[in-house]
Amino acid sequence: MYREKTLSLLKNYFGYENFKKGQGEAINSIASGNDTFVIMPTGGGKSLCYQIPALLLDGVTLVISPLISLMKDQVDGLNSLGIGATFINSTLSKAEVSERLIDISNDKYKLVYLAPEGLDNINYLFRNIDIKIPLVAIDEAHCVSKWGHDFRPSYRKINDFINNINPRPTVLACTATATDLVQKDIINLLALNSPNVFFTGFNRENLTLKVFRGENKDNFILDYIDNRKDESGIIYTSTRAETEQLSNLLNKKGYKSGIYHAGLDESTRAEMQENFMYDNFNIMVATNAFGMGIDKSNVRYVIHYAIPKNLEAYYQEAGRAGRDGEPSECVLLFNNKDIQTQKYFIDNSPMDEYKKSQDYNNLRTMVDYCYTQKCLRKFILEYFGEKETEDSCNNCSNCINENELKEITTEAQMIFSCVYRAEERYGVNTIIDILKGSQNQKILRLGLNKLSTYNLMVNYDRKFLEEVVNKLIADGYLLMTSEQYPLLKLTSKAKIALKNKESIFIQIRKAEKVREEDETLFNLLRALRKSMSQELNLPPYVIFPDSTLKELSSRLPLTETEFSEIKGVGKNKLEKYGDRFLEVIKNYVGENGIIRNPGTASSKSSAKETVMGEKVKSYYETYNLYKEGMTLEEIAKSRNLTSTTIQKHIMDCVLEGLDVNLDDFIPKHSEEAILEAIKKVGAEKLRPIKDILPEDIDYMAIKSVICKHNLI
Ligand code: ADP
Ligand code: MG
Ligand code: ZN
Repeated sequence: MYREKTLSLLKNYFGYENFKKGQGEAINSIASGNDTFVIMPTGGGKSLCYQIPALLLDGVTLVISPLISLMKDQVDGLNSLGIGATFINSTLSKAEVSERLIDISNDKYKLVYLAPEGLDNINYLFRNIDIKIPLVAIDEAHCVSKWGHDFRPSYRKINDFINNINPRPTVLACTATATDLVQKDIINLLALNSPNVFFTGFNRENLTLKVFRGENKDNFILDYIDNRKDESGIIYTSTRAETEQLSNLLNKKGYKSGIYHAGLDESTRAEMQENFMYDNFNIMVATNAFGMGIDKSNVRYVIHYAIPKNLEAYYQEAGRAGRDGEPSECVLLFNNKDIQTQKYFIDNSPMDEYKKSQDYNNLRTMVDYCYTQKCLRKFILEYFGEKETEDSCNNCSNCINENELKEITTEAQMIFSCVYRAEERYGVNTIIDILKGSQNQKILRLGLNKLSTYNLMVNYDRKFLEEVVNKLIADGYLLMTSEQYPLLKLTSKAKIALKNKESIFIQIRKAEKVREEDETLFNLLRALRKSMSQELNLPPYVIFPDSTLKELSSRLPLTETEFSEIKGVGKNKLEKYGDRFLEVIKNYVGENGIIRNPGTASSKSSAKETVMGEKVKSYYETYNLYKEGMTLEEIAKSRNLTSTTIQKHIMDCVLEGLDVNLDDFIPKHSEEAILEAIKKVGAEKLRPIKDILPEDIDYMAIKSVICKHNLI
């Protein structure tokens, strides 16, 4: 019932035309006063689920959000949309708090962000001012549950806090957490009152999932970031030491990276986080201490340098890529020996045996993910209990064949045999020295040149041998011991393979395509955004997300009206930032003599997302002619295409959500007859419908009625 009103808030403040999945329903539920539980993946748009009700409802909405360091950004973001918001937490002085309380009681704010710590005090403070609190939203609500990975003891006090507010406000809990156990726990601990639960599924279509086993990780990462110099990314390592080493390596090679782990003091961490948010460096190398609630929307990739402890943690961390909905990658680099690190963490934790065995099982599943041949997305979604998932997503390294299988049975046998002859007493380098017939001191001194496998692989490239050994380790044929000078040993898998003369395959990664999109304008807009970010002291993505800059650079708006139709441009941002962005676009269009496709910039009246320089989709051309007022026959004639093709084009436009008036194709007074016919014979096939209708009603009319009434 609030739909119309909420849609206009969505457009005016946030600059979006449509709700994302679940948002509209959740907002409706909250605005009608029902406790509500929203489970959406990261980037699903949970914030809007309380921000819009806050605008609709009388009084001040309180938002409990876990990280003090993020509150300022969240509030700045709202202010830049023209929404009154503030926060109260321990970073403020007493005087500042009193000042804000006065402003709150003077209705200056629609939203107030609070930290879970210090809620007792807030209760006390609010008692002295006269305010209405219609809604309390708990963001990252899984923090209440001990079973989740981000448990925060102070979250346990939220229920008391709510009960102390009179009358009891509506409560909204938001989380991206997948497990049933945690979800039930949240409902219990927050004492949600028969909540409406909105669950949108965990799929994130814009994320490309990739797993690579046995890569030389440092080289992989150097290649990878070289191809993405201007993009933001996070690299997760499993230990602090790895974080520091990798970041040093990247910086030495001329990239700008920062680090984040729990061993840094708080101010360093805050500084690192801020620099990353502000795009002062592109790459954040971090342990899992980094990331809860990170709202930076333009993280284009998340690489895992090693496996995390379970698939839930993996998806949570990897999911920090691509919040803005733009294509982004999640890459997992797997090596068998990383399992040891995770096992070590489990073994040395203070948990009881039962919990430890659960953790071992979860780790096992994490490793299975690294080896599975099936669709990675399907694997994850099924793990989270989703049914009826697609068999192939066409967007993961298994579906798109990023890896080739290569048979290396002979090579593997030679290597195994060498490890065996050398009595499993040497490391990788020495084994390769023996195979390559090296004359070095160590080999000669130890008499390894007398082994039967000495010189056996002299014709092989050393790099190739290293790679094969790595892959054999990754795939569990060879084992590297965890001593200071690790030794190479044969596993039972290798012994069985040798005995049964099994064929052995390894995965070889196909070379990455170098990307050649023309991003000149996008980069100009990004540079403008960066310099404005410094002037305004706002993170760049708060000014406009990457998705908005992408759309600006493909649709090339030249007027304020056109600009306002771009996704992510609300009234306030149009006013504040519009001119400067328009200026850059106009200059670019002028200097390069670009002629826009007819109507490129206007979403309402024309085809969307025509990428500059790309061949315009044929049905867009039809659409533009249709919009100029031509009939379908006239279009067919002028384009030299059959009218059936033109009809199909129009239907493609309808399916894409372009503005087509279907009534144009339904002759007057025939709609009823068509609906009647469909009732009789169903809408699956057109022919039977046509057969029982008068001759002069054509297929286009039938299709239009079907589309108009959503009968497919
Ligand atoms: P979550 O908290 O669920 O991870 P956010 O609330 O941070 O997600 O939203 C993620 C991104 O999606 C933000 O950049 C936000 O502006 C954008 N977004 C939210 N709602 C919409 C919408 N209806 N249409 C387009 N983008 C949206
Ligand atoms: Mg969020
Ligand atoms: Zn897939």
